[in-house]
Amino acid sequence: MMGRFRLDDEVFAGTVKGDRVIVEQGLYCDTYTLDELETLPPVTPGKIVCVGLNYIDHARELDMELPGCPIIFLKPPSAVIGHRDMIVYPPESRHVDYEAELAVVIGKQCKNVPATHAGDVILGYTCFNDVTARDIQQEDGQWTRAKSFDTFAPVGPFVVMAENVDISNAYIRSRVNGRLRQDSSVDNMIFDIPALIEFISHIMTLEKGDVIATGTPAGVGQLNHGDTVEIDIEGVGTLENEVVKA
Ligand code: MG
Repeated sequence: MMGRFRLDDEVFAGTVKGDRVIVEQGLYCDTYTLDELETLPPVTPGKIVCVGLNYIDHARELDMELPGCPIIFLKPPSAVIGHRDMIVYPPESRHVDYEAELAVVIGKQCKNVPATHAGDVILGYTCFNDVTARDIQQEDGQWTRAKSFDTFAPVGPFVVMAENVDISNAYIRSRVNGRLRQDSSVDNMIFDIPALIEFISHIMTLEKGDVIATGTPAGVGQLNHGDTVEIDIEGVGTLENEVVKA
């Protein structure tokens, strides 16, 4: 797995093995333990493309018809936070939800990628929480304000390389204060990852480091001040963030 870290004023990438971080420095390698370093978001995406309503169980729970093509929207990179950073509850909302999502990290610039070649452009996977001010989403009718508050895009803790994991039927779960809230499988996606990459890359050029958040399963729900929310994806990791008052 790959992560980004800070030690004093230095920011660097490293390979994570268990609780050790290996950092290549020219011809040499430095090894740290995870608790010696601050864990940063593992990616610095130029854009975050999110997919709405992409799980069969979530569509059923909302009593909505399955969409005929992916519904996509953007979240700004300024919303990104990392593992154990705080989600700040905006004062203008009274209803902030978590949404557990598998994030695909793009490995190279690409355009018009056929589904059959999608694997060529995937660097790896990480956990994503599509934090949403549900009341504002309903009030506005469109989603930008509700999805874009600073801290509303927790991502991490690390990126697992695509060749090191089979996520095709990985479980995807969320817990709030240790209680299970979402429990589904990546194979409940309506549009699978190759189909999403084909669809999105037909519209826009994807760049190295861009993130595609692939939608959330059933069981979304509300967060309150002081809650700790975890996104747990089999073979990928567990992303944990606490919710604080602005
Ligand atoms: Mg979502």
